[in-house]
Amino acid sequence: MLKTLTSAIALGIALSGPATAQAIAEAPSTVNATYVAESATQALAPGEKIETLFTKNLTQDYILQKLTDRVYFFQRQFYGTLFYVGDEGVLVFDALEGRSAALEAAIDEVTDLPITAILYSHNHADHIAGAADLIAANPGVRVIATHATVELMDRLGSGLPRPTEVLAEDAESFSFEGLTVRVAAFGSDAHAHDHAAYVLEGTGVVHVPDVINPDQPPFWSFAGAEGYLGYRDLIDQIDALDWEYLSGGHGNVGSRDDIAFYRQFLGDLEAAVGEALGNVPWGAGVADPASLNGHTAYLSGWISEIGKYATDRLRPRYGEYYGFEYSTPKNAELVGMYMFSYR
Ligand SMILES: [Zn+2]
Repeated sequence: MLKTLTSAIALGIALSGPATAQAIAEAPSTVNATYVAESATQALAPGEKIETLFTKNLTQDYILQKLTDRVYFFQRQFYGTLFYVGDEGVLVFDALEGRSAALEAAIDEVTDLPITAILYSHNHADHIAGAADLIAANPGVRVIATHATVELMDRLGSGLPRPTEVLAEDAESFSFEGLTVRVAAFGSDAHAHDHAAYVLEGTGVVHVPDVINPDQPPFWSFAGAEGYLGYRDLIDQIDALDWEYLSGGHGNVGSRDDIAFYRQFLGDLEAAVGEALGNVPWGAGVADPASLNGHTAYLSGWISEIGKYATDRLRPRYGEYYGFEYSTPKNAELVGMYMFSYR
């Protein structure tokens, strides 16, 4: 049942969207980025981003960008990841749901080597449910995950393929050919209970899905966070790591400028929500209490008004940015509940 549901969601995303490139609006960069043409052979300089990424996601089979000597950035229909080309095989970071064939095609563009290892960054099916396809197509492939990820899969009775290699609870890294991948487990479980950042040592690249969507404001519901508590800690922890290119699972290739933009946006969002909490009275959003069959509407109506108020305050500065109108009311509600609860 769950499997059918997640497949349908992936399919639904795949089938929607315009088919041509004409008249697709691109949001302005949140970081005044230098955009360059997508290239599988020309590496990006730190801070550069891929041009017209939204249009490409809607119209191309996939996006493939060389980041450094052996590291490539892949994206299809708004889900992205990395792969690393070794001397004997390829390490794939995450097996994105519904995107295995496109990922294989992208890898074939740059090497004849097979996929010999897959990392599960965290146990969210949209990022790893393509594993069965990749395992079937690459017999003997290593599947690597942290102790925390496997524990969560076991606890929840995950139907996805189990890793062949489980990193010890206190493991700080794993090796793939000559590459060391540093595992920086998050101290906060704002996004997932088994979440971590993965630094490809010596390459300047970090893979850390679902926290920062580079070149965009925070995604709706902070990209699936369970709440705002701990979310800023994730930003701080990512900033403390050693990298020049960030793979965020969604959005463009990231840089330190994206960290700075997130800090600024979150500061402004907190201030706007604080103002809303001072100005939106309890009872707002409830028109006729006598018509209710319970008090539930008081909270849901009020927090919705908080979200609208804060979004209105931020619109003059941020309104043109990617997805702002769709993500900000919900994010302001999460910040509102956080500030309402923790005083
Ligand atoms: Zn996730």
